[in-house]
Amino acid sequence: MEDPFGHRISYLRVSITDRCNERCRYCMPEEEQTWFAKEDTLSYEELLRIVRVGAGLGIRKVRVTGGEPLVRPGVADFCAQLAEIPGIEDIGISTNGTLLAKEENGVPMAERLVKAGVRTANISLDSLDRATYQRTTSRDLLPRVIEGIDAAIAAGFQSIKLNCVLMKHQTERELPALIDFAAKRNVLLRFIELMPVSTQDVLSEDNFLPIATAKKLIEQTHGKLVPQPDFSTNGPALYHLVPATGQRIGFIGAMTNLHFCESCNKLRLTCDGKLRPCLGSYLEFDLRSVIRSGCDDAELAAFFRNVVARKPKEHDFRHNYQPNRRMIAIGG
Ligand code: SAM
Ligand code: SF4
Repeated sequence: MEDPFGHRISYLRVSITDRCNERCRYCMPEEEQTWFAKEDTLSYEELLRIVRVGAGLGIRKVRVTGGEPLVRPGVADFCAQLAEIPGIEDIGISTNGTLLAKEENGVPMAERLVKAGVRTANISLDSLDRATYQRTTSRDLLPRVIEGIDAAIAAGFQSIKLNCVLMKHQTERELPALIDFAAKRNVLLRFIELMPVSTQDVLSEDNFLPIATAKKLIEQTHGKLVPQPDFSTNGPALYHLVPATGQRIGFIGAMTNLHFCESCNKLRLTCDGKLRPCLGSYLEFDLRSVIRSGCDDAELAAFFRNVVARKPKEHDFRHNYQPNRRMIAIGG
Protein backbone atom coordinates (compact mmCIF):
# COMPACT_ATOMS: atom_id res chain seq x y z
CA MET A 1 0.00 0.00 0.00
CA GLU A 2 1.25 3.46 -0.83
CA ASP A 3 -0.30 6.77 0.23
CA PRO A 4 -0.57 9.90 -1.95
CA PHE A 5 2.74 11.19 -0.54
CA GLY A 6 4.71 8.07 -1.43
CA HIS A 7 4.78 6.51 2.05
CA ARG A 8 4.91 2.72 1.59
CA ILE A 9 2.96 1.08 4.38
CA SER A 10 4.39 -2.17 5.70
CA TYR A 11 4.22 -1.76 9.48
CA LEU A 12 1.22 -2.05 11.81
CA ARG A 13 1.36 -1.14 15.49
CA VAL A 14 -1.29 -3.15 17.27
CA SER A 15 -2.38 -2.00 20.70
CA ILE A 16 -3.93 -4.89 22.61
CA THR A 17 -4.97 -3.01 25.75
CA ASP A 18 -5.22 0.48 27.18
CA ARG A 19 -4.49 -0.83 30.68
CA CYS A 20 -1.18 -0.47 32.37
CA ASN A 21 0.54 -1.24 35.66
CA GLU A 22 2.36 2.10 35.55
CA ARG A 23 1.24 5.72 35.28
CA CYS A 24 3.87 7.62 33.33
CA ARG A 25 3.52 11.37 33.68
CA TYR A 26 3.62 11.95 29.93
CA CYS A 27 1.34 9.09 28.92
CA MET A 28 -1.33 8.47 31.50
CA PRO A 29 -1.36 10.87 34.41
CA GLU A 30 -2.57 9.24 37.63
CA GLU A 31 -5.88 11.07 37.87
CA GLU A 32 -7.19 9.84 34.52
CA GLN A 33 -8.29 6.25 34.68
CA THR A 34 -11.17 5.44 32.46
CA TRP A 35 -10.56 2.14 30.70
CA PHE A 36 -12.34 0.79 27.68
CA ALA A 37 -14.93 -1.82 28.59
CA LYS A 38 -13.87 -5.38 27.78
CA GLU A 39 -16.50 -5.67 25.05
CA ASP A 40 -15.17 -2.51 23.38
CA THR A 41 -11.68 -3.97 23.14
CA LEU A 42 -10.93 -6.11 20.10
CA SER A 43 -10.64 -9.82 20.83
CA TYR A 44 -7.50 -11.69 19.81
CA GLU A 45 -9.53 -13.35 17.03
CA GLU A 46 -10.57 -9.96 15.66
CA LEU A 47 -7.00 -8.65 15.87
CA LEU A 48 -5.64 -11.71 14.07
CA ARG A 49 -8.19 -11.35 11.29
CA ILE A 50 -7.28 -7.68 10.81
CA VAL A 51 -3.56 -8.49 10.69
CA ARG A 52 -4.24 -11.32 8.20
CA VAL A 53 -6.02 -8.89 5.89
CA GLY A 54 -3.25 -6.30 6.39
CA ALA A 55 -0.61 -8.91 5.56
CA GLY A 56 -2.44 -9.54 2.29
CA LEU A 57 -1.98 -5.84 1.53
CA GLY A 58 1.73 -5.70 2.32
CA ILE A 59 1.96 -5.41 6.11
CA ARG A 60 5.19 -7.23 7.00
CA LYS A 61 5.96 -6.03 10.50
CA VAL A 62 3.69 -5.96 13.54
CA ARG A 63 4.56 -4.38 16.87
CA VAL A 64 2.38 -5.40 19.80
CA THR A 65 1.90 -2.54 22.21
CA GLY A 66 -0.53 -0.91 24.62
CA GLY A 67 -1.01 0.36 27.36
CA GLU A 68 1.18 -2.35 28.75
CA PRO A 69 0.71 -5.36 26.44
CA LEU A 70 2.06 -7.84 28.99
CA VAL A 71 -0.84 -7.20 31.37
CA ARG A 72 -3.29 -8.76 28.91
CA PRO A 73 -3.61 -12.51 29.54
CA GLY A 74 -2.67 -14.74 26.62
CA VAL A 75 -0.27 -12.28 24.96
CA ALA A 76 2.44 -14.88 24.20
CA ASP A 77 -0.07 -17.22 22.55
CA PHE A 78 -1.43 -14.28 20.56
CA CYS A 79 2.11 -13.49 19.33
CA ALA A 80 2.60 -17.13 18.33
CA GLN A 81 -0.56 -16.92 16.23
CA LEU A 82 0.60 -13.64 14.67
CA ALA A 83 3.85 -15.35 13.70
CA GLU A 84 1.90 -17.95 11.73
CA ILE A 85 0.20 -15.40 9.50
CA PRO A 86 1.63 -15.67 5.97
CA GLY A 87 3.49 -12.48 5.06
CA ILE A 88 4.26 -11.38 8.63
CA GLU A 89 8.04 -11.42 8.81
CA ASP A 90 8.78 -9.45 11.92
CA ILE A 91 7.03 -9.22 15.28
CA GLY A 92 8.10 -6.82 18.01
CA ILE A 93 6.79 -5.91 21.41
CA SER A 94 6.86 -2.56 23.24
CA THR A 95 6.82 -2.93 26.98
CA ASN A 96 7.68 -1.13 30.19
CA GLY A 97 9.70 -4.23 31.12
CA THR A 98 8.10 -4.77 34.53
CA LEU A 99 6.67 -8.20 33.62
CA LEU A 100 9.40 -9.60 31.35
CA ALA A 101 11.02 -11.61 34.13
CA LYS A 102 7.73 -12.85 35.57
CA GLU A 103 7.58 -16.63 35.42
CA GLU A 104 4.69 -18.88 34.46
CA ASN A 105 5.37 -22.57 35.03
CA GLY A 106 9.01 -21.66 35.59
CA VAL A 107 9.39 -19.87 32.23
CA PRO A 108 9.95 -16.08 32.20
CA MET A 109 7.65 -14.02 30.01
CA ALA A 110 10.61 -12.87 27.91
CA GLU A 111 11.45 -16.46 27.01
CA ARG A 112 7.82 -17.25 26.17
CA LEU A 113 7.73 -14.29 23.83
CA VAL A 114 10.91 -15.33 22.04
CA LYS A 115 9.56 -18.88 21.69
CA ALA A 116 6.36 -17.40 20.26
CA GLY A 117 8.39 -15.75 17.50
CA VAL A 118 8.75 -12.20 18.83
CA ARG A 119 11.99 -10.87 17.34
CA THR A 120 12.45 -7.45 18.94
CA ALA A 121 11.71 -5.94 22.33
CA ASN A 122 11.50 -2.19 22.92
CA ILE A 123 11.70 -1.54 26.64
CA SER A 124 10.99 1.83 28.24
CA LEU A 125 13.61 3.07 30.67
CA ASP A 126 13.49 6.73 31.63
CA SER A 127 15.75 6.63 34.63
CA LEU A 128 18.19 4.45 36.54
CA ASP A 129 17.59 6.34 39.72
CA ARG A 130 14.93 4.57 41.75
CA ALA A 131 13.32 7.73 43.15
CA THR A 132 13.23 9.43 39.74
CA TYR A 133 11.84 6.29 38.14
CA GLN A 134 9.11 6.20 40.75
CA ARG A 135 8.31 9.88 40.26
CA THR A 136 8.05 9.42 36.48
CA THR A 137 5.97 6.26 36.46
CA SER A 138 4.21 6.56 39.85
CA ARG A 139 5.46 3.04 40.60
CA ASP A 140 8.52 1.82 42.50
CA LEU A 141 9.34 -0.83 39.92
CA LEU A 142 12.86 0.01 38.70
CA PRO A 143 14.44 -3.19 40.14
CA ARG A 144 11.82 -5.28 38.34
CA VAL A 145 12.45 -3.45 35.07
CA ILE A 146 16.18 -4.14 35.33
CA GLU A 147 15.39 -7.82 36.01
CA GLY A 148 13.09 -7.68 32.98
CA ILE A 149 15.82 -6.23 30.75
CA ASP A 150 18.20 -8.95 31.88
CA ALA A 151 15.52 -11.59 31.28
CA ALA A 152 15.08 -10.22 27.76
CA ILE A 153 18.83 -10.41 27.12
CA ALA A 154 18.91 -13.99 28.44
CA ALA A 155 15.89 -14.96 26.34
CA GLY A 156 17.74 -14.06 23.15
CA PHE A 157 15.61 -11.44 21.36
CA GLN A 158 17.31 -10.55 18.08
CA SER A 159 17.18 -6.90 19.01
CA ILE A 160 16.54 -5.06 22.27
CA LYS A 161 16.11 -1.30 22.41
CA LEU A 162 15.80 0.81 25.52
CA ASN A 163 13.62 3.90 25.03
CA CYS A 164 13.98 6.99 27.19
CA VAL A 165 11.58 9.93 26.88
CA LEU A 166 13.53 13.17 27.22
CA MET A 167 12.23 15.29 30.10
CA LYS A 168 13.74 18.67 30.96
CA HIS A 169 15.10 19.01 34.53
CA GLN A 170 15.30 15.22 34.74
CA THR A 171 16.98 13.41 31.86
CA GLU A 172 19.97 15.80 31.78
CA ARG A 173 21.47 14.15 34.85
CA GLU A 174 20.48 10.62 33.75
CA LEU A 175 22.24 10.62 30.37
CA PRO A 176 25.67 9.23 31.36
CA ALA A 177 24.24 6.42 33.50
CA LEU A 178 21.73 5.37 30.82
CA ILE A 179 24.42 5.32 28.13
CA ASP A 180 26.80 3.30 30.26
CA PHE A 181 24.01 0.87 31.28
CA ALA A 182 23.14 0.22 27.62
CA ALA A 183 26.81 -0.12 26.64
CA LYS A 184 27.44 -2.64 29.41
CA ARG A 185 24.53 -4.77 28.28
CA ASN A 186 25.23 -4.24 24.60
CA VAL A 187 21.70 -3.02 23.78
CA LEU A 188 20.58 -0.03 21.72
CA LEU A 189 19.47 3.06 23.60
CA ARG A 190 17.18 5.68 22.08
CA PHE A 191 16.07 9.07 23.27
CA ILE A 192 12.56 10.19 22.35
CA GLU A 193 11.38 13.78 22.34
CA LEU A 194 8.27 14.38 24.37
CA MET A 195 5.16 14.56 22.17
CA PRO A 196 1.76 16.12 22.88
CA VAL A 197 -0.10 12.83 23.02
CA SER A 198 -1.41 12.70 26.55
CA THR A 199 -3.25 15.41 28.39
CA GLN A 200 -3.08 18.93 27.08
CA ASP A 201 -0.44 20.11 29.53
CA VAL A 202 2.03 17.28 28.99
CA LEU A 203 4.19 19.27 26.63
CA SER A 204 5.36 22.66 27.82
CA GLU A 205 8.44 24.84 27.58
CA ASP A 206 9.20 23.74 31.08
CA ASN A 207 9.47 20.01 30.45
CA PHE A 208 10.54 19.74 26.79
CA LEU A 209 14.17 18.73 26.30
CA PRO A 210 15.16 18.90 22.63
CA ILE A 211 17.46 16.31 21.13
CA ALA A 212 20.00 18.97 20.22
CA THR A 213 20.45 19.81 23.91
CA ALA A 214 20.67 16.14 24.92
CA LYS A 215 23.37 15.60 22.27
CA LYS A 216 25.43 18.52 23.55
CA LEU A 217 25.25 17.18 27.09
CA ILE A 218 26.23 13.67 25.98
CA GLU A 219 29.21 15.08 24.08
CA GLN A 220 30.45 16.75 27.27
CA THR A 221 30.89 13.36 28.95
CA HIS A 222 31.23 10.87 26.08
CA GLY A 223 32.96 12.75 23.25
CA LYS A 224 31.75 14.04 19.90
CA LEU A 225 28.92 11.92 18.51
CA VAL A 226 29.46 10.51 15.03
CA PRO A 227 26.33 10.35 12.82
CA GLN A 228 25.57 6.91 11.38
CA PRO A 229 23.42 7.78 8.34
CA ASP A 230 23.61 4.24 6.96
CA PHE A 231 22.36 2.57 10.14
CA SER A 232 18.60 2.25 10.55
CA THR A 233 16.18 0.04 12.48
CA ASN A 234 13.08 0.41 10.28
CA GLY A 235 11.91 3.57 12.06
CA PRO A 236 12.48 7.30 12.39
CA ALA A 237 15.41 7.09 14.84
CA LEU A 238 18.68 8.70 13.74
CA TYR A 239 21.69 6.88 15.15
CA HIS A 240 25.05 8.15 16.31
CA LEU A 241 28.19 6.41 17.47
CA VAL A 242 29.41 7.22 20.99
CA PRO A 243 33.20 7.34 20.69
CA ALA A 244 33.87 6.70 24.39
CA THR A 245 31.98 3.39 24.44
CA GLY A 246 31.73 2.31 20.79
CA GLN A 247 27.95 1.87 21.06
CA ARG A 248 25.24 3.40 18.87
CA ILE A 249 22.51 5.55 20.36
CA GLY A 250 19.37 6.73 18.58
CA PHE A 251 17.36 9.94 18.64
CA ILE A 252 13.66 10.10 17.81
CA GLY A 253 12.86 13.74 17.30
CA ALA A 254 9.24 14.05 16.31
CA MET A 255 9.19 17.70 17.37
CA THR A 256 12.47 19.09 16.07
CA ASN A 257 13.40 16.82 13.13
CA LEU A 258 11.61 18.41 10.18
CA HIS A 259 12.18 15.29 8.04
CA PHE A 260 10.66 13.00 10.68
CA CYS A 261 7.65 11.88 8.64
CA GLU A 262 9.31 11.37 5.28
CA SER A 263 10.07 7.69 5.75
CA CYS A 264 6.89 6.81 7.69
CA ASN A 265 5.70 3.28 6.94
CA LYS A 266 3.15 2.83 9.76
CA LEU A 267 -0.48 2.49 10.61
CA ARG A 268 -1.78 2.12 14.14
CA LEU A 269 -4.65 0.01 15.40
CA THR A 270 -6.01 1.06 18.79
CA CYS A 271 -7.28 -1.59 21.19
CA ASP A 272 -10.85 -0.35 20.67
CA GLY A 273 -10.52 -0.91 16.96
CA LYS A 274 -9.73 2.47 15.44
CA LEU A 275 -7.30 2.44 12.55
CA ARG A 276 -5.10 5.56 12.71
CA PRO A 277 -3.01 6.65 9.75
CA CYS A 278 -0.78 8.88 11.90
CA LEU A 279 0.10 9.24 15.60
CA GLY A 280 0.03 13.02 15.37
CA SER A 281 -3.29 13.55 13.65
CA TYR A 282 -6.90 13.50 14.79
CA LEU A 283 -7.82 11.09 12.02
CA GLU A 284 -9.05 7.69 13.13
CA PHE A 285 -11.39 5.26 11.41
CA ASP A 286 -13.73 2.83 13.11
CA LEU A 287 -12.66 -0.61 12.01
CA ARG A 288 -14.38 -2.30 14.94
CA SER A 289 -17.87 -1.48 13.77
CA VAL A 290 -16.94 -2.72 10.28
CA ILE A 291 -15.51 -6.01 11.48
CA ARG A 292 -18.45 -6.52 13.83
CA SER A 293 -20.97 -5.82 11.08
CA GLY A 294 -20.20 -9.18 9.51
CA CYS A 295 -18.19 -7.80 6.59
CA ASP A 296 -16.03 -10.00 4.39
CA ASP A 297 -12.25 -9.70 4.01
CA ALA A 298 -12.57 -7.73 0.75
CA GLU A 299 -14.46 -5.01 2.64
CA LEU A 300 -11.81 -4.98 5.36
CA ALA A 301 -9.11 -4.65 2.71
CA ALA A 302 -10.98 -1.73 1.12
CA PHE A 303 -11.18 -0.11 4.56
CA PHE A 304 -7.39 -0.41 4.98
CA ARG A 305 -6.78 1.12 1.55
CA ASN A 306 -9.10 4.02 2.32
CA VAL A 307 -7.25 4.78 5.55
CA VAL A 308 -3.91 4.68 3.75
CA ALA A 309 -5.30 7.07 1.12
CA ARG A 310 -6.08 9.52 3.95
CA LYS A 311 -2.64 9.34 5.58
CA PRO A 312 -1.37 12.91 6.09
CA LYS A 313 1.92 14.10 4.66
CA GLU A 314 3.24 14.75 8.16
CA HIS A 315 2.10 14.91 11.76
CA ASP A 316 0.46 17.96 13.23
CA PHE A 317 2.41 18.13 16.51
CA ARG A 318 4.13 21.38 15.64
CA HIS A 319 0.85 23.24 15.12
CA ASN A 320 -0.31 23.67 18.70
CA TYR A 321 -1.73 20.14 18.56
CA GLN A 322 -4.30 19.33 21.26
CA PRO A 323 -4.48 15.57 21.79
CA ASN A 324 -7.85 13.87 21.37
CA ARG A 325 -6.65 10.59 22.85
CA ARG A 326 -4.10 9.73 25.50
CA MET A 327 -0.99 7.88 24.29
CA ILE A 328 -2.01 4.94 26.43
CA ALA A 329 -5.19 4.62 24.37
CA ILE A 330 -3.37 4.87 21.04
CA GLY A 331 -0.40 2.56 21.35
CA GLY A 332 3.13 3.90 21.14
N1 SAM B 1 3.76 0.34 28.04
C1 SAM B 1 4.73 0.17 27.02
C2 SAM B 1 5.93 1.06 27.25
O1 SAM B 1 5.87 1.91 28.14
O2 SAM B 1 6.91 0.90 26.54
C3 SAM B 1 4.19 0.35 25.60
C4 SAM B 1 3.25 1.47 25.35
S1 SAM B 1 3.95 3.10 25.54
C5 SAM B 1 2.57 4.11 25.15
C6 SAM B 1 5.01 3.17 24.10
C7 SAM B 1 6.08 4.24 24.11
O3 SAM B 1 5.45 5.50 24.05
C8 SAM B 1 6.98 4.24 25.34
O4 SAM B 1 8.32 4.20 24.95
C9 SAM B 1 6.65 5.55 25.99
O5 SAM B 1 7.76 6.09 26.66
C10 SAM B 1 6.24 6.39 24.79
N2 SAM B 1 5.43 7.57 25.15
C11 SAM B 1 4.32 7.63 25.90
N3 SAM B 1 3.85 8.89 26.01
C12 SAM B 1 4.72 9.67 25.31
C13 SAM B 1 4.83 11.07 25.05
N4 SAM B 1 3.93 11.94 25.54
N5 SAM B 1 5.84 11.50 24.29
C14 SAM B 1 6.78 10.64 23.80
N6 SAM B 1 6.74 9.31 24.01
C15 SAM B 1 5.73 8.83 24.76
FE1 SF4 C 1 2.08 2.53 30.82
FE2 SF4 C 1 3.87 2.59 28.84
FE3 SF4 C 1 2.13 4.59 29.18
FE4 SF4 C 1 4.03 4.29 30.94
S1 SF4 C 1 4.33 4.76 28.75
S2 SF4 C 1 1.84 4.63 31.41
S3 SF4 C 1 4.28 2.10 31.00
S4 SF4 C 1 1.65 2.55 28.62
